[in-house]
Amino acid sequence: MKDLKLPITIEPKKSAQRHLECDGYFALSGLERLLAVSEKAGEQVNVKVNFGIDAEKLVFISGKASTKINLTCQRCNEPFEQELKVSFIFSPVKDEESAEHLPSHYDAVVVDENGEVNLRELVEDELMLTLPLIPKHDLKDCSAKADTSWGKLPDTLEKPNPFDVLKNLK
Ligand SMILES: [Zn+2]
Repeated sequence: MKDLKLPITIEPKKSAQRHLECDGYFALSGLERLLAVSEKAGEQVNVKVNFGIDAEKLVFISGKASTKINLTCQRCNEPFEQELKVSFIFSPVKDEESAEHLPSHYDAVVVDENGEVNLRELVEDELMLTLPLIPKHDLKDCSAKADTSWGKLPDTLEKPNPFDVLKNLK
């Protein structure tokens, strides 16, 4: 458990000049999009992030984040714990246009009118990208039988034909 609660927004340029390093957390309850897919609210999202300036004088934000959430297995419908881990390296830019001039090893993050970035949102975006498309247990941990034809679509969908209504009018 980490005990340093991180600031939600941060000024990357000043932080880079100070070579700031943060090792702390966000409460999962503040990450609403992630929380919407999880049944666990008490967890922490652990974040380690450092700010610096590279040889080309570009500010960078580099870090790692991890958390545990509960997903529902799409095979057996039981909840299971999934660990999410990401690492990232961003460089702050003024607008989309300057983002195009960034070296490709950086992801761009656009600063707001105060020159700040929303670190919490940044971390949440990264974590959202690692969510499995179809969450499911490892086969050995799953209570559903391996041969169940889960996720199979019905053969035909009974749709009312709009022309039937017209026929009846005649
Ligand atoms: Zn399962």
